[in-house]
Amino acid sequence: MKVYLDNAATTPISKEVFKEMEPYFTSHFGNPSSTHSFGRKTKNGIEITRKKIADLINAQNNEIVFTSGGTEADNIALRCAVQDLGVQRIITTKIEHHAVGHTAEDLKKLNGIEVLYLNTDNHGNPSIDELESELNKPVKTLVSLMHANNEIGTLLPLQEVASICAKHQHVYFHSDTVQTMGHYPFDVKELDIDFLTCSAHKLHGPKGIGFLFVKNHILMNPLITGGSQERNNRGGTENIYGIIGLGKAMELAFSDLKEHQEHIQSLKSLMIKELQDIDQRISFNGHIEPNKSLYTVLNVCFPNEVCNSMLLFSLDIHGIAASGGSACSSGSNIGSHVLAELPQQENCQSVRFSFSRYTTIEEVNYTLDKIRAILLNERK
Ligand code: PLP
Repeated sequence: MKVYLDNAATTPISKEVFKEMEPYFTSHFGNPSSTHSFGRKTKNGIEITRKKIADLINAQNNEIVFTSGGTEADNIALRCAVQDLGVQRIITTKIEHHAVGHTAEDLKKLNGIEVLYLNTDNHGNPSIDELESELNKPVKTLVSLMHANNEIGTLLPLQEVASICAKHQHVYFHSDTVQTMGHYPFDVKELDIDFLTCSAHKLHGPKGIGFLFVKNHILMNPLITGGSQERNNRGGTENIYGIIGLGKAMELAFSDLKEHQEHIQSLKSLMIKELQDIDQRISFNGHIEPNKSLYTVLNVCFPNEVCNSMLLFSLDIHGIAASGGSACSSGSNIGSHVLAELPQQENCQSVRFSFSRYTTIEEVNYTLDKIRAILLNERK
C-alpha cells in the first residue's frame, strides 16, 4: 500500500485539472500576446481563469496577478510594499515560511527597513496585543502574518488581524494563504486585506503557478521586467497551462468545500485520538482544536526515545510518506525554524502528517497500524 501524507509539501494533481490543461499543451499553444486567433484563444483562457479566481474570492479581475507560485507572490508583496508603497517597517514572526522571512531580512539588508518579530506563544500564535501597540507608532508598516503555519497548522484569526490593520492608514496587511487557499472561504472585500498569496500545487493543481491578490488601489512596479504581461505587473510569456490548471483546481476546491473539510477533519480527529491511545505521552505541536488549527495538518510530538528520522524511514519502507523536523541525533528538531520557536521541543521528536481530500480512512488506519507496530518494536 502507498500512502501519501505529505500534502502540505505538495498535493497530487487532480485528474480533472490535468484534463483541463491538456489542450493547452497541444492545440491551444498560441502566445497570448499574439493578436491572431491562436493568441486570442490562449489570452481568452487566461482572462476567463482570472475572472473565475477573482469571483471565488470576491476580488476584481485586475486584482489577480499570476505568478510562478507562492514564493514569488510573497516576494512581490513584500518587495512592492517597500519599493512602491514606502513601507519602512515589516512586522512579522519568526515562524513564517522562508518566502516571507528571508525576503524581509533581504529587504532589511538592501533597503535598511526595520523588521520586527512579534512574540509567539507555545502554539505559534503571534501576540495580538503587541501588534496593536506597535501599530500605534506612526511608521509606514507592512504586517505579514501567515494564515496557517505550514509545519504546525496553527491558524491566525485572519479577520481580526485584518480589522486591526485596517484601522490604520499607514498600515498594509499581507497574509501568506498558501496553505489555506482552497480550504476555507475567502472574501477579500469583507477581509479588507491588501495582499494574499496562493500556490496551485497545494490544492491539487500544477507546480510553478500561483497568484497574488493585490488590492485595487495599489500600484506596483514589476519585479520581473521585459514584457507588458499581467497588465505590466510581471513580464514574461504566461504559463498558460499552469494558469488553466490553477483555475480548475480553485474551482474544484471551492465547489465541495464543506464536504472536503468534514472528510479531512474527521481523518485528523481519528489520528489524534488513536495516537493518544497508542501512547499517552504522544502530544501535538500547535493547536489541535478545529477552529484554531488547519484541518489538513497534524504535527505529532513523539517521545524522545523515538527517533523521528527512524520513524520516517520505517514508515517510508511501509510506503507511507510524511515529513519531519530534522535528524534526531541532537534530541531536538534543529532543522525547523518553526519548531525551534516552540518551547516544548526539547522533549519531542516531531513528524508532520498532512492530509488531502483524496486521503482515505483505510490509509489512515494502515498508517496507525504501522506506527503502533514500529513503536512496539522500539520498546523491545
Ligand atoms: N508559503 C507557504 C506557507 C508554503 O507552505 C509554501 C510552500 O511550501 C510557500 C509559501 C511556497 O510556495 P511555492 O512552493 O509555490 O513557491
